[in-house]
Amino acid sequence: MYFDTAEGPVFRPPSEADSFILRVTIGCSHNRCTYCNMYRSVSFRLRTMEEIVPQVERAKRYGESIRRVFLADGNALVLPTERLLEILALLRQELPKLRRVSCYAGPRDMLSKTPEELLALREAGLQLVYYGLESGDDEVLQYVRKGVTAQQAVAAGQRIVAAGMKLSLMVIAGLGGRLWSEQHARHTALAINAIRPHMFSVLTLMLYRGSELRQAYEAGQFAVLSPAEIAGEMQALLTMINLPEGGHCLFRSNHISNYAPLAGSLPQDKDKLLAACRQMKGQLAGLTEWDPYNTVEE
Ligand code: SF4
Repeated sequence: MYFDTAEGPVFRPPSEADSFILRVTIGCSHNRCTYCNMYRSVSFRLRTMEEIVPQVERAKRYGESIRRVFLADGNALVLPTERLLEILALLRQELPKLRRVSCYAGPRDMLSKTPEELLALREAGLQLVYYGLESGDDEVLQYVRKGVTAQQAVAAGQRIVAAGMKLSLMVIAGLGGRLWSEQHARHTALAINAIRPHMFSVLTLMLYRGSELRQAYEAGQFAVLSPAEIAGEMQALLTMINLPEGGHCLFRSNHISNYAPLAGSLPQDKDKLLAACRQMKGQLAGLTEWDPYNTVEE
């Protein structure tokens, strides 16, 4: 649900399909990741309350049905905490059935908030953060210009969990290419073990038009993994993920970028998921032709 006419594209997680999308920023304040072209066409800016309030007023007409709000665009936590608290109070006041507010967040913005600020945001209704960790490996993070070290990337996720918010974490299989595949899997598993997210998704690398990573591939400077190698990397990653017994982390690998859908809970379904990875690897091994871009865009 979306009432906005502001510039630029709108993105949201698949699980926010029925949410009211409230754009509190335009674009992404980082906008430098070499694999991403989502917000390249727009200049980043914070939105004013004069822009935000009318959207909420329009949504209010559907107030009886709106239970979830997603704060867009790319990393809403870049907003000052006071502004976020003001927006959350407005949403609570105008949408009586509201149950959940969520947003994307970048690691630098997560780290810029104190534990007390995050706690205040959670108590004000921000309950779920979607975080693109992408990799737990320093070399991969530096290569794709994520803007943080692995240690900072882990600390950012831990800070959200410690504040009592739900954390949905995404990583990208194949992001380290052939060169760093093994260490990408190993260090990403260690990062997940340290963060202990509530939800965890593996996407597969797509080489989007206009992205530096695509240019690197075309210049012969980045070797993409084959589909079978992607399955092998996922198998290595899942093998090394050890989440506490008795915990419950929802695992999904059913994005459009993935070669085969996987779903389960960790640690309970680890053996089942590993068996599915082995099967996928075997099936994909016979593939002689595949699209290295892994994207349907023109
Ligand atoms: S991946 Fe996320 S943080 Fe990086 S440029 Fe894209 S939207 Fe911004």
